[in-house]
Amino acid sequence: MSVALPIVNAPRWIASELAHGAGCVRPGPIAFVRGEGSRLFTETGEAYLDASASYGVASLGHAHPEITEAVARQASQLVALTPSFANDVRAAYLDELQNVLPESLDRAFLCNSGTESIEAALKIARWSTGRTGVIAALRGFHGRSMGSLSATAEPKYREPFAPLVPGFRHVRHGDVEALAEAIGPETAAVLLEVIQGEGGVRPSPDGYLERVRELCDANGALLIFDEVQTGFCRTGSFFAFQASGVVPDLLALGKGIAGGVAMGATVFGPRIGALSAGSHGSTFGGNPLACAAARATLRVMQRDRLDERAAELGAIARVRLQPLVDAGKVREVRGRGLMIGIETRGRVAPVRQELLNRRILTLAAGLNVLRLLPPLTIHVTEWNEVIDQITGVLS
Ligand SMILES: *Cc1c(COP(=O)(O)O)cnc(C)c1O
Repeated sequence: MSVALPIVNAPRWIASELAHGAGCVRPGPIAFVRGEGSRLFTETGEAYLDASASYGVASLGHAHPEITEAVARQASQLVALTPSFANDVRAAYLDELQNVLPESLDRAFLCNSGTESIEAALKIARWSTGRTGVIAALRGFHGRSMGSLSATAEPKYREPFAPLVPGFRHVRHGDVEALAEAIGPETAAVLLEVIQGEGGVRPSPDGYLERVRELCDANGALLIFDEVQTGFCRTGSFFAFQASGVVPDLLALGKGIAGGVAMGATVFGPRIGALSAGSHGSTFGGNPLACAAARATLRVMQRDRLDERAAELGAIARVRLQPLVDAGKVREVRGRGLMIGIETRGRVAPVRQELLNRRILTLAAGLNVLRLLPPLTIHVTEWNEVIDQITGVLS
C-alpha cells in the first residue's frame, strides 16, 4: 500500500478549529463546505464520495431537496417552541411516527441526540420499575453523558471520568448464560444494541434477542433497544428489531431520524404509560424545526422504500466483497443492510487513509473494522464505486 501524502486544504480553517475547538475531536486534513447527495465538496470544488454520512446522520444524503424545503419553510414559520405548548408540526410528527412503530410503542419523548434518548430511557426504566440495576453489553456504546457512559463498557471512554453512576453491569453480548446470571430482582432494565455499531458492527446471534426478552419478562425487567445507529431503515428494515420480531419496552433513536438535523427520541408504550408531569424534560426537545425535518425524512423513507433499498444495496456489497473474504484479504464482512463492517487483517487506519486519497470517506469501528454507513439514497453507481475502491485498496 502506498504511503499517503497528506492532503491539506483550507489550512486557515483547520488552524482555527485546532486553536479554538475543544480538542476532543481533531479535525482531519480536509475541510468541506457543501454537500449534495452522497458527495461532499471542498472550497475549491473537489468532490468526495461519502460512505459515512457523518455516522449515518445524513440518512437521505446531503442537501436533500425535501429536507431543505421543509427546514426553510419551517424556519420562516416557527423555530422555537417549548414543549409546554402544543404545535401543529410536532403533533403531526408524533402521529406519523406511529405508522412505523408497533402498537405497543405509542409514546415518544423527543430530544436532541442519541445520548439524550438513552439518558431518558435509563431514567424512565428506573422510575417505572422502582429498581436501580441496568445490565448492558461489553463492546456496547450508548453515549458519553454520565448515565449513557455508565452503560458503555469500553474502559477508555469510562476510566477518566470515574466514579460513574452505580448499578450498571456488563455482560458479553450474545451470552445468554451470562445474562441469566446477572439479571435479578434489582434489574430495572437490560440495554442492548440490536447490532453493535462502535463495537465493531456485530449483529446479535440468532435467537439471542428472543432469550433476552424471556429473561427480562421472567425477572420483571424492561428491555431497552438502543437503535440510535440501526434505526430508520439503516439495516434493511425500518428498525433492526423488526427482523427478529422481538419488541422492546423502550426504543432509543437518533442519528438518521431527521435527515441530518439534531434530534433524538425515546419511544415507549402502555407498559410504562405516560410519565408524570415534570419528571423529565428538554428545552429544545420536539422543537418545530427538528420536527419538520423529521417529518420530511419519514415521508421520504416510506415513499421511496428506503428500508428495502438498504437491504438491496447491502446485498450487492456483501456479494461483491465476498471474494476478499475467500481470498483471505479480510477476516469477515458483517452487518445488515447499509450498516457494514469489514474486519481487516491489519490496522484499518492506513486503509481509510488510502481510501481518503481516492476520495472516499469511510468510518472505523475499533482498530481493525472498516465501517460503512452511506446515505440510504446513494446511487447504485456511486455504491459500486465505493466497493470498487475498497476492493482495490484491500486486494
Ligand atoms: C451514536 C450513538 C449514540 C450517541 O448518540 P449521540 O447523538 O452522539 O449522542 C448512542 N448509541 C449508539 C448505538 C450510537 O451509535
